[in-house]
Amino acid sequence: MNDFIPYGRHLIDSEDIQAVVETMHSDWLTTGPRIELFENAFASFVSSKHAVALSSGTAALHAMMFAIGVGANDEVILSPMTFAASANAILYQKATPVFCDVEKDTLLIDPNRIEKKITPRTKALLAVDYAGQPCDYEALAEIARRHDLFLLADSCHSLGAEYKGRKIGEIADLTAFSFHPVKNITTGEGGMVTTGHGEFAGRIRSFRNHGIKTDHKQRFEQGTWFYEMVDLGFNYRLTDIQSALGMSQLSKLPGWLEKRRSIARTYKESFSDLEAVEPLVSHPDRNHTYHLYVIRLDLELLQAGRKEIFTALRNEKLGVNVHYIPVHFHPYYREKFGLGPGLCPVAESAYERIITLPLHHGMDERQVEQVIAAVRKVIRRYSK
Ligand SMILES: *Cc1c(COP(=O)(O)O)cnc(C)c1O
Repeated sequence: MNDFIPYGRHLIDSEDIQAVVETMHSDWLTTGPRIELFENAFASFVSSKHAVALSSGTAALHAMMFAIGVGANDEVILSPMTFAASANAILYQKATPVFCDVEKDTLLIDPNRIEKKITPRTKALLAVDYAGQPCDYEALAEIARRHDLFLLADSCHSLGAEYKGRKIGEIADLTAFSFHPVKNITTGEGGMVTTGHGEFAGRIRSFRNHGIKTDHKQRFEQGTWFYEMVDLGFNYRLTDIQSALGMSQLSKLPGWLEKRRSIARTYKESFSDLEAVEPLVSHPDRNHTYHLYVIRLDLELLQAGRKEIFTALRNEKLGVNVHYIPVHFHPYYREKFGLGPGLCPVAESAYERIITLPLHHGMDERQVEQVIAAVRKVIRRYSK
């Protein structure tokens, strides 16, 4: 009996539940001690000086834009092969997202195309570690240095990844992570920014709390009521309940990453004889997290398009998906900025042929076998 296998899924065990229950019996449900404990554990995990917890990955991206002072006259360069939230965060600050095309084999931003997109208004580069593979940070840092830009990272896919031996979270000026249930660890909803700059960390701490300089716990400890709002912030706080879950999840991440990498190797080997299936290239100098396992279809070798292959795989109970519709294809971006097809041809052509297969750390061997058998069956059926 085959059951539906989602493309990504959380894994919660009794330790996680225990951590949440203990917090619910404690004095602090939010703005309490578990937030700092989670932030410290996280900062140490990614070798970063500072970590600031937020209510979502989107809030983390927004806070990051705020921290470096992105504003109405600024442009931020990013790839369109991402979730809309990466670009939306730029719009929240009234700045303009500038889409730069990707490398064909990795779908990561192509460093060779960035400089053509730089103008006097460019403020930052936003690297998106698509599928869990780090971007070419050496090349990006060099461009950022040459043009005096901030290097930001949307690493919502790549918690636990490394680039040339350095942890994702310690390389860019600021890095954003997400703890949505499909991500590498979860807090239900949640996010984090890591940075080596204390000033940015401080601005984000205030931004997540309405732009107020102190939080409730600090005032409680100082025995004062007085507070000052100095920026227009938001309520972007993560709760102690979520932080307890995040800490418990984080302790399991190394084992989960091993599992993800092992499933990815098994897929790659199992599809190596299927000419119509091309995995994305993963560079040996980068330690990939396989948040997504994306295959490209060679449509010339198939009698069907991506849509039919997708439906056939869904009929085999695989929760296949497509990551992503290029952001500039969404009606909001088309209408507001006059964008559309032709802007980033490599990303647009990839979009026609990519499929995300189920891969998550809770999968058992039988499910991995089910994915392999279904892909082999469907691809053989539609091969020319
Ligand atoms: C999930 C994700 C986000 C948004 O994170 P949320 O926690 O859902 O707000 C942003 N960017 C990328 C690349 C993502 O995958």
